[in-house]
Amino acid sequence: MPGKEERSTTWREFVESCRNYVQEEWIGLRSRLRFRSVVGEFRRQLSGRTVVVLSAMVPVAAVGVAVVQSHINRAPLAYMVYVNGIYVGVTPDIHSVDRLRNRLGPEAQVDVRTVHMALPASTAEQFWRSLAASPAVPKVYAVYVNGKPVVAVATEDDAKAAIERVKALYTPPGGHVDQVAFRERVDFGPVDRWSGATVRTVDEAVQILQQGTNVQKHYLVSRGDTLWTIAAAHNTTVDQLQAANPQLANPDEIQEGDTLNLNAVQPYVHVEAVQTVTREVAIPYDVQYQDDSSMPTGQSKVIRDGAEGRKQQTVRIHYENGRPVREEVLSEQVLQDKVDQIVARGTGPAAGYAGPNWIWPTTAHLISSPYGEWRGRESHPGVDIAAPYGAPVYASNGGRVIFAGWDSGGYGNCVRIDHGNGVVTIYGHMSQVLVSPGQAVAQGQVIGHVGATGEATGPHLHYEVRVGGHVVNPMPYS
Ligand SMILES: [Zn+2]
Repeated sequence: MPGKEERSTTWREFVESCRNYVQEEWIGLRSRLRFRSVVGEFRRQLSGRTVVVLSAMVPVAAVGVAVVQSHINRAPLAYMVYVNGIYVGVTPDIHSVDRLRNRLGPEAQVDVRTVHMALPASTAEQFWRSLAASPAVPKVYAVYVNGKPVVAVATEDDAKAAIERVKALYTPPGGHVDQVAFRERVDFGPVDRWSGATVRTVDEAVQILQQGTNVQKHYLVSRGDTLWTIAAAHNTTVDQLQAANPQLANPDEIQEGDTLNLNAVQPYVHVEAVQTVTREVAIPYDVQYQDDSSMPTGQSKVIRDGAEGRKQQTVRIHYENGRPVREEVLSEQVLQDKVDQIVARGTGPAAGYAGPNWIWPTTAHLISSPYGEWRGRESHPGVDIAAPYGAPVYASNGGRVIFAGWDSGGYGNCVRIDHGNGVVTIYGHMSQVLVSPGQAVAQGQVIGHVGATGEATGPHLHYEVRVGGHVVNPMPYS
């Protein structure tokens, strides 16, 4: 038989165990009540009956207590858990209590009462379930995207702030913003402190919503870097780099020490915004061409300068995560008409290239000395055309000037043109030469003026043709 002192302690334990057991049952019904009110309720409801029961037990105390006590002592230990003074559940597993302490962190006060109590096997699981429902257990807030939690923050206000900041980041500045909305369903709600989520700051939450959480390669901007040099060095494009760094307000202003994302972001959310703006835009001018046979093919000349017009547009712009993706023009008003540019386009023979036809090399047609005329020692190698002093001398076909200047062999001021295929034309006795060696000339281009330089008795044009270096009759080449 245990001693008096021991028995009295055991009796107190027994009463407490009974109280705890009934309390546990009661909490099952009204778990939100505070401990004290539960005890009060217990007392109010059961004190009468308990007294009767306990009184009835007194006569059989010696045997009864021993039996009950041995029963209770054989019952395993259980742990009644209180968070910040509020009862939250009972568990047979002391490790659950340690886990709870770790998960709740230092701001929560976790207290335990040890009782002897046989608990069903499912209690350990129920313990965690009842914790989730308990207002005594601190919550964190998850931001949900399409029903899936993507980031956790400490408070409801943080969750709201993160969502609103992402929206604000992608709200186009200026103009009338018609609409800003997430494409996804975005909301937030409480989750258990120990749900495993890392609690983020609002800044971190904003970044995760914007950029996703895929592993990111970073680049630290050095002095002199531009998006172009960085893109080139990392086998990417400026567009992709910009898309990977939605935080860059102005991609031209990256700074030494900035950190850039190198691979594409996969944002959790897409902010779709619609904005209506009124703006002035240029009306580009068109170019009208006019054919001009007096100019060689390939040449052109601006006859009238063009001028842009201006118009006022009201446009609805659709944005996705801050980037314009689509525009609708709602109305347009021309403020100033455009002026088209007019360009003369040469259709004449191209400079430098001989065509199939030849032309007469000056304005006069009187031949004063024909080809082959015998002149004592030799025959005349060309034709002399009696043209007035200063008359224009034309290239008889397109070609390239191979000689232009004074010829000491008697031709005076002279031009030689190579027409390709071994054909060279020679123009002699000119008063003035207008072309230079190497220059491409078109058929009919004025290359000089008729004169009487060199071995000439009066103004005339000596026109001579050589094929493969041999003098030929120039008449077929005119
Ligand atoms: Zn001659």
